[in-house]
Amino acid sequence: MTSMHTDSQTNEGFDDESYDCMNCQEGFLASDFDLVDDELNPLHPLCPACQVAARLESAECEQCGEPATHEVELGPLCDDCFEHYVDGYRENG
Ligand SMILES: [Zn+2]
Ligand SMILES: [Zn+2]
Repeated sequence: MTSMHTDSQTNEGFDDESYDCMNCQEGFLASDFDLVDDELNPLHPLCPACQVAARLESAECEQCGEPATHEVELGPLCDDCFEHYVDGYRENG
């Protein structure tokens, strides 16, 4: 009668599905995408980091048109512009 167990490791069927990234083979959860703007493609699962990288691959820097490597509120930025952005951000508090 006491067969009820609370094993949080095996919550299959739960909302939180796990995937393996096709790019870096890193395991991640569908819920990891709750925190980011990107959407998970179940047919081509990429972890949030690789999903951002894949999106930025075709993106250009908002400021100078160089290939973008970062994304901020303003939009995609290249390394140089990202550094300026971060510096400015720090100075303005
Ligand atoms: Zn990945
Ligand atoms: Zn730039």
